[in-house]
Amino acid sequence: MPKAYEAGNVEQKWYKFWLDKGYFTPKINLKKKPFVIIMPPPNVTGELHIGHALTATLEDIMVRWHRMKGEPTLWLPGVDHAGIATQVVVEKMLAEEGVDRHKLGREKTQARIRQWAESRRQMIARQHQRLGASCDWSRERYTLDEGPSRAVRTAFVRLYEKGLIYRGERIINWCPRCATALSDLETDHKDIQGNLYYVRYPLEDSKEFITVATTRPETILGDTAVAVNPRDKRYKAMVGKKVILPAVKRAVPIIADEAVDLEFGTGAVKITPAHDPVDFEVAQRNSLPLINILNPDVTMNENAGPYAGLDRFECRQAILDDLEKEGLLVKIEPYGHSVGHCMRCQTVIEPIASQQWFIDTKPLAEPAIKAVTSGRISILPERFTKVYLNWMENIRDWCISRQLWWGHRIPVWYCHDCGEVTVAVEEPKTCSKCGSSKIEQDPDVLDTWFSSALWPHSTMGWPDDTEDLGYFYPTTVMETGYDILFFWVARMIMMGLEDTGDIPFSTVYLHGLLRDEKGEKMSKVRGNVVDPLDTIAKYGTDALRFALTSDISPGNDIKLTPSRLEAGRNFANKLWNATRFVVRSFEQDPDIEFKRDKITLEDRWILSRLSGTTASVTRLMANFQFGEAQRQLHDFLWGEFCDWYIEFAKIRLGSKERPSPLPVLVHTLETSLRLLHPFMPFVTEELWQNLKQRLPDGWAETGSIMIAAYPGADEKAVDPQAERVMEAIIEIIHAVRNARAEHKVESSKWVEAQVCAGELTPAIAAYSPTIETLARARPVSFLESRGEAPGENVLALVLKDSEVIIPMESMVDLKAERKRLEQEIAQAGAEVTRLEARLKDSAFLTKAPPAVVSKEQDRLVERKDRLERLKQSLDRLG
Ligand SMILES: [Zn+2]
Ligand SMILES: [Zn+2]
Repeated sequence: MPKAYEAGNVEQKWYKFWLDKGYFTPKINLKKKPFVIIMPPPNVTGELHIGHALTATLEDIMVRWHRMKGEPTLWLPGVDHAGIATQVVVEKMLAEEGVDRHKLGREKTQARIRQWAESRRQMIARQHQRLGASCDWSRERYTLDEGPSRAVRTAFVRLYEKGLIYRGERIINWCPRCATALSDLETDHKDIQGNLYYVRYPLEDSKEFITVATTRPETILGDTAVAVNPRDKRYKAMVGKKVILPAVKRAVPIIADEAVDLEFGTGAVKITPAHDPVDFEVAQRNSLPLINILNPDVTMNENAGPYAGLDRFECRQAILDDLEKEGLLVKIEPYGHSVGHCMRCQTVIEPIASQQWFIDTKPLAEPAIKAVTSGRISILPERFTKVYLNWMENIRDWCISRQLWWGHRIPVWYCHDCGEVTVAVEEPKTCSKCGSSKIEQDPDVLDTWFSSALWPHSTMGWPDDTEDLGYFYPTTVMETGYDILFFWVARMIMMGLEDTGDIPFSTVYLHGLLRDEKGEKMSKVRGNVVDPLDTIAKYGTDALRFALTSDISPGNDIKLTPSRLEAGRNFANKLWNATRFVVRSFEQDPDIEFKRDKITLEDRWILSRLSGTTASVTRLMANFQFGEAQRQLHDFLWGEFCDWYIEFAKIRLGSKERPSPLPVLVHTLETSLRLLHPFMPFVTEELWQNLKQRLPDGWAETGSIMIAAYPGADEKAVDPQAERVMEAIIEIIHAVRNARAEHKVESSKWVEAQVCAGELTPAIAAYSPTIETLARARPVSFLESRGEAPGENVLALVLKDSEVIIPMESMVDLKAERKRLEQEIAQAGAEVTRLEARLKDSAFLTKAPPAVVSKEQDRLVERKDRLERLKQSLDRLG
């Protein structure tokens, strides 16, 4: 074996080996229950970021563990076309080339996006492979593949036929930059410091006015009423009269509606149904007309009269100027309020009434709520159950149409001759009613989350009754970030139940967000993003995986720090060195047959600890506590096996003592590598193969650690007495080492130690040669009772099961130490005297500021304390 571990070459070599052997593809076995994870499909928009690395690592841990447990295990990878996100990126690229997508046309633009997405797809697959993801590439899916696309059209048609998809005029969030409707989830609400404008509307045929307050004065042009609360005495007499809108001089009624807040502004509000969701509902209740004043690019349209053609914000200023001139602008107050922004491009969205396709979500939400409250689906961490239920219980209809070109086109055709709407899975040639061939498909595409919502069943071949769907669906775990609980998880539950009659998965595992050392969220703007490929090149994949899952628990945010990456790399190196030692020893003495009746106390101890660690790790894995499982494996391997057992073994091997520790060394190492494999797949495979090469036939039955059995706890190995004794021995060695370090004892010098360990004394005494070697203590003697040791001139260390007494003389040169202490005592004494004199000096006490006096008092206390400790040390020397 080479001297040092070179992660790079090793990783590429083993990934190819696994892939070539077909280990990632499960064999369907109807007698066994499969374990299935559908990978959250990354967007084709970009390269993998560190969040994807976290997802891949967590899922790979689960998948490798279940595969080793002998379950047919499927991890299905895929990629999402990511409608709006992808189109925005490619539009920007086109703009840089000076090309406008509208001039280029739908088909050519689509071709450009397709070409770009294809190159990204391949890169994403390669990056997942670098992360060690053991997913079944033979089943990789893309949301725009024919299978998932047919699933999308089928689901749409079935929902439409059930009356759960409808087309209607509603207020939607319009992004003028992206030129599309957005769902509520796709808009970010930001608090903006704006103004509240108070505007007077003159009453028709009267000298009276009514004053309304608005943050968007340009929308006056689209007002169709002024509303007051029916209980508001101030305006009682005005209800039923009309006002003349400033600027456009249109007459609109004053109406009474319960929705009006008496406390807001003047208590009278303008109603702009085409540009405000609340006003839209008021208009529906009161049969008010809708007047849309905006073009799709948010310039003012012909309904804006003299302002037509102005941009929305230019129009705002122009109206304010005109109101001012006419004396209708009463006052302007600064006003903080929340404004929706496009999640993709951060443009201020405009609420606009328009014809869109919606899903009536309430009937779908009901069974999805039941699936969780009944416990068929559990959400980890549990606190997100409440968040999920709260959202589902208040769910609003889902706007699914997007005015984009990239995505699944809505399977709806309109007839030019009779106006019939044909909704079909396969493209019709003629109108379903009149037979006319003058039909045209709806130009819009579906929200990208529509296809994502079908992902667990569409990837398995639904709507066809495939073997995969029958065997692998419902899937087992859905692992993803808590930030897409509503976007994705909730919708998969609704659509899975609707389409297949069954839940899509039984456990939802939500991981937290990645943060940097300081706890800041990682973002390009902050410049603190960590590139997974750079990190892999520097530390190795296993180290990155180790760092990502250190300390992780469901739902909690994760800090990725250089020290964790270093710890991961050091751990891989530690295992490398340990295995190298075992392999070298084995080459010299290949008798490794394991005879349980011929083992020593330290063998019994490490086997008992291996059994305990195995049981604990298995329990933690089953409870999704991967961070703690990894920590326990690390602590066992590093802290017990490498630091202690191997050190004990070296002494035995050196003295050719029998029985040899080699059988236990090999057994413990090989078992531990299998335990660790799901976490650090590459280094464990490399080390395991190194062992396998040299071990006799039959030691390793499989060709790879990844398909070897996951170890079970060996209950016969549990030995509390051996653990207690060995822990006491380790503690003694540890304590002596610490004492040596504290007193700066040179490494060549031996110190003396007396041990008092009560009933454990005989067992520990048998190990005195080991203790001597490892603690560099000689002689080590054992006392019947504490009273036998001298009381003076000693350092007494009280431990859990024993006490260690070290004569000071054996650590330090008494004469020199005494002289040093005496000098220090003299100095400290002089300082104390000086300080005491000063604090009695009335001149000092009256002139010095109180802070200085109190500082001197503190110093005196501290010096006296130091003097006392020096005297005690001197006493100890006798
Ligand atoms: Zn946008
Ligand atoms: Zn027709």
